[in-house]
Amino acid sequence: MIAANLESVRGRIARACAAAGRPVQSVTLLAVSKFFPATSVREAVAAGQTRFGENLVQEGVDKIETLADLRERLEWHLIGPLQSNKTRIVAERFDWVHSVDRLKIAERLSAQRPAGLAPLSVCLQVNISGEATKSGVAPEEVEALAAAVAGLPALRLRGLMAIPEPSTEVAAQRAPHRALRKLFDALRARGHGLDTLSIGMSDDLEAAIAEGATIVRVGSAIFGTRAR
Ligand SMILES: *Cc1c(COP(=O)(O)O)cnc(C)c1O
Repeated sequence: MIAANLESVRGRIARACAAAGRPVQSVTLLAVSKFFPATSVREAVAAGQTRFGENLVQEGVDKIETLADLRERLEWHLIGPLQSNKTRIVAERFDWVHSVDRLKIAERLSAQRPAGLAPLSVCLQVNISGEATKSGVAPEEVEALAAAVAGLPALRLRGLMAIPEPSTEVAAQRAPHRALRKLFDALRARGHGLDTLSIGMSDDLEAAIAEGATIVRVGSAIFGTRAR
């Protein structure tokens, strides 16, 4: 089931890349395993998937520990909200954080990243739809935050992430993706060496790839409908 779903998601990515005139290797699939057990992750690994995203810090840490035998082969990404009292364990265990939206969190992650590990890859989460969900830095504050985060020694600023307001219409899906892409291009024009645009989920990955996504975060299309 998971293997077949992965195959189908990879097919969707390949078709979206072809339609956008982009090489298929320009898009990385992050399998969002939140709320699914470590056994489901193992199944995905057996089907060739190596990058996983988790929403909740403790759930992610538990899964990383349960799957310690696979640690070298896997990349773990935190994609959900991060409070300052949880930064240490995240700096110690994860490879990426997509949800940095204020300097204090970035400073703590950098200070707490163990010296023996590679810099923690981070994306700034942008509140691109300007909606009720309070997560994400406001678009007009992205540049100042990027400049500050780029100066932190144990972090590597990779790019921008957003969770746009859901829509079933492709045109409406593309608008916020395009807005994020514009911010991304503006930062690159200012000299930031960014390589990551983290947008696109199960329902809108085609729209995101059309607008330049380099990481799509896909959960339910791989693991099934979540109970929570
Ligand atoms: C759950 C989640 C996803 C995956 O959503 P699906 O619709 O299940 O693909 C992607 N990004 C974030 C931040 C999430 O919390």
